[in-house]
Amino acid sequence: MQAPIKKVVILGGGTAGWMSAAMIKKLIGSAVEIELVESEQIGTVGVGEATIPPIKLFNNVLGIDEAEFLRETKATIKLAIKFENWKTKGHSYYHTFGAAGRSLAFCQFHHLLKRANQLDDDQNLWQYDLNYLCAEAGKFSNINSKDPLYEIPHAYHFDAGLYAKFLRKFSEKIGVKRTEGIVEHVQQCNETGYIQALQLKDGTHISGDLFIDCSGFKGILIQEKLATGYEDWSHWLQCDRAISVPSERFEKTLPYTRSIAHSAGWQWQIPLQHRNGNGLVYSSHYYTDEHAQGLLLSNLQSKALAEPKIFRFTTGRRRKQWHKNVIAIGLSSGFLEPLESTSIHLIQSAIIRLVHLFPHHGINDTLVNEYNQQSTREFEQIRDFLILHYHVNKRDDSLFWHDMRNMDIPDRLAGKIEIFSESGRLFREQNDLFLDSSWLQVMLGQGIVPKDYHPIANSVPEKALQEMLIKVKTAKNAPIESLPSHDEFLQAIIQASNKVST
Ligand SMILES: Cc1cc2nc3c(=O)[nH]c(=O)nc-3n(C[C@H](O)[C@H](O)[C@H](O)COP(=O)(O)OP(=O)(O)OC[C@H]3O[C@@H](n4cnc5c(N)ncnc54)[C@H](O)[C@@H]3O)c2cc1C
Repeated sequence: MQAPIKKVVILGGGTAGWMSAAMIKKLIGSAVEIELVESEQIGTVGVGEATIPPIKLFNNVLGIDEAEFLRETKATIKLAIKFENWKTKGHSYYHTFGAAGRSLAFCQFHHLLKRANQLDDDQNLWQYDLNYLCAEAGKFSNINSKDPLYEIPHAYHFDAGLYAKFLRKFSEKIGVKRTEGIVEHVQQCNETGYIQALQLKDGTHISGDLFIDCSGFKGILIQEKLATGYEDWSHWLQCDRAISVPSERFEKTLPYTRSIAHSAGWQWQIPLQHRNGNGLVYSSHYYTDEHAQGLLLSNLQSKALAEPKIFRFTTGRRRKQWHKNVIAIGLSSGFLEPLESTSIHLIQSAIIRLVHLFPHHGINDTLVNEYNQQSTREFEQIRDFLILHYHVNKRDDSLFWHDMRNMDIPDRLAGKIEIFSESGRLFREQNDLFLDSSWLQVMLGQGIVPKDYHPIANSVPEKALQEMLIKVKTAKNAPIESLPSHDEFLQAIIQASNKVST
């Protein structure tokens, strides 16, 4: 048991640091003082552009206006990820944020589609998905509809550096104290091992009761000081390098991320308002850095705007993300490659978890253990979803894809794949970030066609089933014609927001 928490110190002012500062101050700031230390000289990781829909909730809770956010972070809309060449070269599928069709009580839509002989690993499922139809047509509107058939769930592509700046302004306005400086020493209690203070290069002393380590990959507090250890998952997720490079924007802004598989890795293409973000994630066992850089640059579809930047990482997680009075959030807590754009989400959920379990009256083992168990499960569930993309493939053109197909995978994931292959059934574990519709799209897209459907689908008479499928498909296609293009939407919302701010 420790004394009540009166002061929180955040080390690091990247996306993780400023998201933590903004949300903790907003939600429990009347009870705690918050100080954030960052160093402009050290800088931030400087990548991270694609997100998933829960980010909207995060911004809403902060009270951020969507139009202002889009303008300030140069954001665009993300409806899906298009996976190209993942199953086989030349094949593509979408993992959208929507859900295809309309499920009946106790019977998911894809069982009905299978019964109607329309479920295969090609495009049928997606013809019933409004997100897919909008993504393909390059259209979007954020007008909410009361009918779930017409919902277009979305996330954003944005410049994470600009998002951090935006949140810095927000946080300072609501009372977060920012201190510029390089942390040189960390003072620790000899008895308890708790961190007591950070000492900056200029001699400044910053003491606190609870420390949030947002110092990036090195984990200055959680690892360099507390030596918490790291669980290495690189035997499953073998990519260990990334090269990123921005390039000129295209005339038309795609409302989705492209993920293009190569012979030993994959390339991202992320459209922002002012540029494209590009990168190649690869395994150093199969590509040299020189080869990877050449491959990325030769596959850019517009002029590069900067020198490529290389990142080295080990996929995995910190063994304890909360240890003593330190909580690691962001890159210091672990790393999963950006295949499903989950890192910024992991920051968001770590912050919310911390707020729920905040140790106002002092740190105790129950809170710490609960926090660590929840974060372990979350990392593992995302890990398994990522492994699925690599493991289930039908590519016969490279050793990498052959090795991915033949590697051992976690038992839980193997069970999920087996059950879906046999009967089309999907089991979402408690709190799994990815819903059944996500697992369905990736399993089908990667080439698993279930042998059977659930017999509940037989409860719908044949004629009624055919009529229902036509009705749903017509309804999903109906709004496309009248929706504005993604670029028209962005222009209109940003113009309106400029008028408000002048
Ligand atoms: C190649 C790549 C692609 C990615 N793509 C995506 C994506 O598409 N979507 C997504 O969600 N995520 C993505 N991510 C992850 C995302 O970039 C990070 O999760 C996010 O930016 C958070 O970083 P951070 O704040 O933890 O660390 P950083 O940005 O590294 O910030 C660390 C902070 O600590 C400070 N600091 C460090 N040492 C000291 C010191 N001694 N004294 C004072 N201050 C110090 C630094 O100045 C900085 O402010 C990607 C990551 C990589 C590597």
